[in-house]
Amino acid sequence: MTSYPANTAPRTFSPNSAEVIEISKIIEKLSNKVHDLSLVVNGKKVTGAGNKIPVFLPHRKADQYALVSLPSEKQIREALENSLKVSTEWAKTSTTERAAIFNKVADLIEFKYKDLLVAATMVGQSKTVFQGEIDAASGLIDAIRFNSKFALDIEQMQPPDSEVTNIVLDYRPLEGFVYAITPFNFTTTSAILSSAPALMGNVVIWKPSITAMLPAQILMDIYQEAGLPDGVINLIPGYGPEVSEILLADENLAGIYFTGSTKVFRQLWREVGNKLDSYRNFPRIVGETGGKGFIVAHSSADRDRLISGLIRSAYEYQGQKCSACSRAYISRSVWDDIKDKLAAEINSLKYGQIDNFKNFMGAVIDQTSYTRLSEVLRSIAADPEIEILAGGKANDEIGYFIEPTLIVSNNPNNKVFSNEYFGPILAIHVFPDDKYEDILGIIEQTSPYALTGSIFSENEVVIESSLDKLRNAAGSMNVNDKPTGAVMGKHPFGGSRASGTNDKAGSLQGLLRWTSPRVIRTVSNSTTDILHLHQL
Ligand code: NAD
Repeated sequence: MTSYPANTAPRTFSPNSAEVIEISKIIEKLSNKVHDLSLVVNGKKVTGAGNKIPVFLPHRKADQYALVSLPSEKQIREALENSLKVSTEWAKTSTTERAAIFNKVADLIEFKYKDLLVAATMVGQSKTVFQGEIDAASGLIDAIRFNSKFALDIEQMQPPDSEVTNIVLDYRPLEGFVYAITPFNFTTTSAILSSAPALMGNVVIWKPSITAMLPAQILMDIYQEAGLPDGVINLIPGYGPEVSEILLADENLAGIYFTGSTKVFRQLWREVGNKLDSYRNFPRIVGETGGKGFIVAHSSADRDRLISGLIRSAYEYQGQKCSACSRAYISRSVWDDIKDKLAAEINSLKYGQIDNFKNFMGAVIDQTSYTRLSEVLRSIAADPEIEILAGGKANDEIGYFIEPTLIVSNNPNNKVFSNEYFGPILAIHVFPDDKYEDILGIIEQTSPYALTGSIFSENEVVIESSLDKLRNAAGSMNVNDKPTGAVMGKHPFGGSRASGTNDKAGSLQGLLRWTSPRVIRTVSNSTTDILHLHQL
């Protein structure tokens, strides 16, 4: 096995540092221009012949920063035909060559483009500088470097005594093309989903979210500069259904690599199921979907670590992480100790413009999300089972801002403990100290999702038994830390149940989905006999 790359430390952006001055300039430049964003097919930027969609800054809703030109049906078909043409040559490249290209991508980001990519992610996604850094710089660089290492390791995974038996596993790419579909909220996810199948020798048609097109186009430029041959990854913007109508109907669909909501993933799977007879292969379907991350605090929990974990995981990036904590179960004695401090800390969180580095939060992604979350806040306010302890308001005068909101309910079956809102809303249920075991059963059953969770306790026995009881409640389980955040390469991420296929993006297991191994057995002394001994 090859050695592990070192993880990239995120920069801290201390006040008035050169880092802050430099990135502020780029943020300003990117924010005050309307970027023309469109297709990249066969290495060339092509203006989409379809509708033109204006995209606005989430935190300054009157200011347009992008115009996305959507492709015509003909352009989507051309992209598909072209990628299939390129697939034969690309499939012949060695893993070493491909890993070298993607290692170059990581180097280019680390040494040349990280400020640009971080600033683009802050501007388009309304991220604070630290959220931008861990997403579009340190996390992304690590994800690409570790995947390159894993691809080389996979090649070395051969049958036992393969030299003696002359049996070799040839890690072929899938036959056809991979359709990568990415969400608005993580540039790292965009990079992993577009590049991992290509690293394994596949051609990719990548459809990012319209609101994440700015970092997507920058990534495409970086892939090209690193030497990725034209047409291996093609960028097709769109809402989704119009692109799927063409791509899912093609017999060469080899796989779907999706991250986004459970509803859309189910729809895609259904469509593939309906067309199953028409494909040359059974398409690989990989999806990382919704979440309802939880924290459970035993009476032995460290109070201050718990407060930090609750606040960071519920409100950083406005709660728009699939891993966000949106429900917490806190034992009565802990709650009595932390309640006032927790509410005061939440009330003091600043939110607003992303170029003011003092702000803890930016805006939610767009008007649709704002309208949906405002409606959720209205229904919470009208619910007699719920008490609002902090926040609860929405304000869209300048941008799409939702206050960090803390609510409490005595009913652990209230819908606030099961629905994914994808916003800065944290629901708390307080339980008697001696009912800890019962609450584990409730957590396990309440939500359809099983992505992230955290156990806060200073008692080893309690931790062990909680891990046991919550075995299927989360694909990523944390002890005495928040459920958000994954150290790329070392912390494979994904969940099961309604949270997806749990193929762990950013891991060796994840890459294995994009190869279809062929066994090659070479025999130099095969027998000339026909009958076996007992037949003589
Ligand atoms: P979404 O499902 O609305 O969109 C995701 C992507 O699917 C977008 O690119 C969208 O344009 C596309 N899409 C929609 N309909 C389509 C169709 N018929 N064919 C092809 N593409 C289609 O999700 P979102 O709002 O962008 O992201 C938020 C969701 O993503 C949340 O549910 C969150 O939990 C989830 N998410 C999960 C993970 C994870 O690792 N589990 C990570 C990030 C986000």
